[in-house]
Amino acid sequence: MKKHPPGHGRGFPPPKVSDQPIAEAFERKFAIHAGMLAGQKCEGDLGNLLQKEIEKTPPKVPAMAYIHIPFCCSRCHFCGFYAESSVPETMARYTQALVADIALSGEHLAKTDQELRAVYFGGGTPTDLSAQDLSLLLQTVRKKLPLSEDCEITIEGRLFGFNDEKVQVVLDNGANRFSFGVQSFNTQIRQQVGRKQPREEVIERLNHISKLSEPHNAAVIIDLIYGLPGQGTTEWLQDIDCAINETAIHGLDLYQINMIPGTPLADLKEKLPSMATLQEQSHLFSLGRKKMLESNFQRLSIAHWGRDSREHNRYNRWNKTGANCLPLGSGAGGCWGTTRFFQHKDIKLYQEAILEGKKPLAGAMSIPSHYAVTSVAIGQLEQQCLDITELEHVAGQPLRQKLQPILEQWGVAGLLRSNNTDRLQLTEAGEFWVVNLQQLIDMKLKAILCAT
Ligand code: SF4
Repeated sequence: MKKHPPGHGRGFPPPKVSDQPIAEAFERKFAIHAGMLAGQKCEGDLGNLLQKEIEKTPPKVPAMAYIHIPFCCSRCHFCGFYAESSVPETMARYTQALVADIALSGEHLAKTDQELRAVYFGGGTPTDLSAQDLSLLLQTVRKKLPLSEDCEITIEGRLFGFNDEKVQVVLDNGANRFSFGVQSFNTQIRQQVGRKQPREEVIERLNHISKLSEPHNAAVIIDLIYGLPGQGTTEWLQDIDCAINETAIHGLDLYQINMIPGTPLADLKEKLPSMATLQEQSHLFSLGRKKMLESNFQRLSIAHWGRDSREHNRYNRWNKTGANCLPLGSGAGGCWGTTRFFQHKDIKLYQEAILEGKKPLAGAMSIPSHYAVTSVAIGQLEQQCLDITELEHVAGQPLRQKLQPILEQWGVAGLLRSNNTDRLQLTEAGEFWVVNLQQLIDMKLKAILCAT
């Protein structure tokens, strides 16, 4: 059997040494969600367990809520999250159950001093809900959940079908952030992956929504993807240029395409224009990074950029580092304290639990104790650095010597450099491979901390 260096599992080989680390340090990206939170399955009354976790959390620890809307009007070809078709009556019934879920969870929180500093409506496509459903949900959130004064309330979705009535309703009811999956401005590339609107319409809607958001100081954020079929360097740079210079958006996420087996894109691959290889994607990453560094946007994390101070990216930032998050809605997941919770994915089971007056939790897992240190390391890597002193402080023990072999290995592979301070800096290649580094440091920390 092939031997792996300490801290490396069989599925997660260490980086290779190469002249082109950004293209060749690894053969693949390990995963988007690396399953680092997997622990022991929890049994018993899960609602009670959630209540206990909330009660034992000191006030002021960052907390937020994730509200899942599992409906989309159509499936984007690259998507692995599509669940249900957006049928108005089904969505209205779901909204009623969700209102009860929010109210019930509000009771859990009411017995404590907890405050939610971010609420994220994700999916699916929350913007597919009717204006009435959106209004009801936002009013319930504000009435039943203990929100901080500066709570970030994000509505994720698509521009298609998100008319002015809906935009105005959500702004009037407290939403202060939009996250739209634009993916590309190029009409042909958009349509090849199942997006409906042409470039001109996308730009017009983004600018119009930005204008409507102005009096509310709300932020408009978009996602762009690199590596789509038919997208070369010219098209990719045109997309970024368009976002920066032709729209009034306040934030921009640049993501790499993730080819998920079983999605229409995986099935259609042979019929569509070619897609960038992983090596070519690393070049697209490099070009996008350079263009953003030259722009007037500030870097908020490896993939996320903000144009002005109204974009905080609070939910996404905290979510990556395992902050307390209350799950709401069918299929939602979240963690609180030392436990990760999952709600019923089956909408029927979800609604039945609500009718019985129960928090619709389907499962829970304990979070491994070393994850408290891993989550800090993940947050640091998202900021393109590693601060060993801070990690030692959180771990309550020396780590430097034990981490030295893996850090040296990353340095030799061109992923990390020391600038003679305690903060080690990721190179451009390290940024491209950050998911792999997060997985590797988690495994190393687990080996160190669980052995002591
Ligand atoms: S709108 Fe989002 S969740 Fe729905 S199919 Fe497209 S990418 Fe997937």
